[in-house]
Amino acid sequence: MKQEWIEVLQEKMDHHLVSARSDLETYRFDASFGEFFPEAVVYVTNTEMVRQVLKIANEYKVPVTPRGQGTGLSGGDLPIHGGIILDMSQWPASVEVFPEDLVARVSPGTLTSEIHAEAEKHGLMYPPDPSSSNISTIGGNLAENAGGPRGLKYGVTKDYVLGLEVVTPEGDVMHTGGRTIKNVTGLDVTKLLVGSEGILSIITSATLKLIPKPATKQTVMAAFPTMETAGEAVSTTLTSGILPAKMEFIDQACARAVEEYEPLGLPTDIEAIVLVEVDGHPTAVQEESDTVMKIMKELGGTSVSMPRTKEEALNMWKARMLVSPAIATIKPTRASEDATVPRSQIPAMMAHLADIREKYQLSLVVFGHLGDGNLHPNILCDKRDKEELERVEKAVGEIFHFALELGGTLSGEHGIGTMKSPFLEDELGLVGVDMMKRIKQSWDPNNIMNPGKIFPDKGQRLILSREVEG
Ligand SMILES: Cc1cc2nc3c(=O)[nH]c(=O)nc-3n(C[C@H](O)[C@H](O)[C@H](O)COP(=O)(O)OP(=O)(O)OC[C@H]3O[C@@H](n4cnc5c(N)ncnc54)[C@H](O)[C@@H]3O)c2cc1C
Repeated sequence: MKQEWIEVLQEKMDHHLVSARSDLETYRFDASFGEFFPEAVVYVTNTEMVRQVLKIANEYKVPVTPRGQGTGLSGGDLPIHGGIILDMSQWPASVEVFPEDLVARVSPGTLTSEIHAEAEKHGLMYPPDPSSSNISTIGGNLAENAGGPRGLKYGVTKDYVLGLEVVTPEGDVMHTGGRTIKNVTGLDVTKLLVGSEGILSIITSATLKLIPKPATKQTVMAAFPTMETAGEAVSTTLTSGILPAKMEFIDQACARAVEEYEPLGLPTDIEAIVLVEVDGHPTAVQEESDTVMKIMKELGGTSVSMPRTKEEALNMWKARMLVSPAIATIKPTRASEDATVPRSQIPAMMAHLADIREKYQLSLVVFGHLGDGNLHPNILCDKRDKEELERVEKAVGEIFHFALELGGTLSGEHGIGTMKSPFLEDELGLVGVDMMKRIKQSWDPNNIMNPGKIFPDKGQRLILSREVEG
């Protein structure tokens, strides 16, 4: 028999709601590890629908988990306490650019790449560029405070949010911020909501800051025999007066995986391949890219090269873009982490990751944003193999603890979700977590908004298989 709340919701939402087990099947996964069934999925396409769903959910105290495109890597949109999945992906895409104000108003279901394309039509740029831009929604980016390769020079999603429209857990519509560059009226609730991982409100519209699109850009690629020299090349570049837009790297295992997947002629007998992009005025870009080439060569970089055409540049970046699909062929399951360390600690972190690979005999590859210390250690495994999964759990725990020891953080861009919540207190301390919990409790007294995320459930011990005691 259907629960009363589903019947009440069905009456309001009609064909926008599904609750048959077969229709819920795909919603038990996201791009992370876990598997949890919701009890109903509602396809919302406007703010009024969100309002109605939240009013009913709040009355019946039913969990609501917002979901964009399900590309999250920390389990943020898994309905771990059942209830309703609020599917935002069917919300019509909308990007209204106001070129004279350098802002854009966007709907939550819009793909990030659609915002990039619309801004560029006006000679403008929306800088945040998660590698998932073609497949993730701006709503998901806002909720995770997503970053991307351009974060080194331009910052992350929160740096480009001027205002939000959200629906509160009680089903009220609220506006934060505005569309001016400066705005210090009241508490900065906009910043609180960006990165709140769907545990406070549903984002239904956002006003984003745009900047003039840099006139040109140039890529430099280099291979390094050791991680130390790659790290040195990065710090020497950043202290030479140049701030590249991107400084990315892939390790040897990633280079080998890409070459197996699609041969691009990458060197595979090295420890790291570094890709740098400088952007700006053509004269500055020419000078800066020449200097980067010189630094890379002086610090022992091999195969140091600069593309002559746009196509050649795209081909170089293909090496970085193909890492995800290439490593996905190694084993069926992927634990993708984003432990982030101060830049000076990158070689120490890389050395420790190599030790962890040996100690736990795991297939561990690393790539990421070298310029800002945001590494992506990825462990390729098979989650059906319980013994291997135990080793993965231990390895992931060690990665987090070592990153914190080095003065780093659990997450540079993927969020805490459910996967990293047992470690939250290790980074924030008891008081830090308690103050955050108080915000959550006063904002959402019935705890209906994405429960079980950011804060660990009572007795939650494991991260990947998410075992809860008692
Ligand atoms: C191949 C690949 C590459 C990636 N590269 C990057 C990268 O470079 N940088 C990066 O930061 N991330 C990256 N990610 C992770 C992921 O794409 C981002 O976290 C993205 O922001 C998630 O968007 P989504 O639409 O898929 O949201 P989902 O995964 O569906 O949801 C993510 C979180 O947002 C919440 N949420 C979704 N919509 C709303 C809303 N409207 N209101 C309130 N809460 C909401 C959900 O509850 C959940 O907690 C990558 C993922 C993949 C698979």
